[in-house]
Amino acid sequence: MFNASHFRPAQTATALSPLRAWEYLRLRREAAGLTIEQLVSRLTSSERRAEQARRLIMRLESPGASARDDAVIARIGRVVPLDVTVYRQLADDPIERHPSVCRRCGCSDFDRCSCSTSGRACSWASSHLCTRCERSGL
Ligand SMILES: [Zn+2]
Ligand SMILES: [Zn+2]
Repeated sequence: MFNASHFRPAQTATALSPLRAWEYLRLRREAAGLTIEQLVSRLTSSERRAEQARRLIMRLESPGASARDDAVIARIGRVVPLDVTVYRQLADDPIERHPSVCRRCGCSDFDRCSCSTSGRACSWASSHLCTRCERSGL
């Protein structure tokens, strides 16, 4: 039978659930405006490597995933602005030691977004939302 508790508003669930490493990766990629395919094509021009990279990224972005090797994340970080330490903390550390990360774009104190018009870095609008995302009202 259906249980009413399964139908809580999505926002409540988001606010309560900690950001996970695989979500962080996806948020940063999307904040950079890249599809997986676009990311892959910037990582390699080799057909064979592209296939491997595509599979790897899809795996890393699926629930429960975390990269064992920081080098993989650092490599993606050359294309997508992200912070390997933040990724590692989200993947391995207990929630109370997680850094603050924007739930919409994945930016953090270690990896701020800059406003396209003023060029100034964002700050915190609330504990889980940066000022840039708050202004864009996504
Ligand atoms: Zn943000
Ligand atoms: Zn931001």
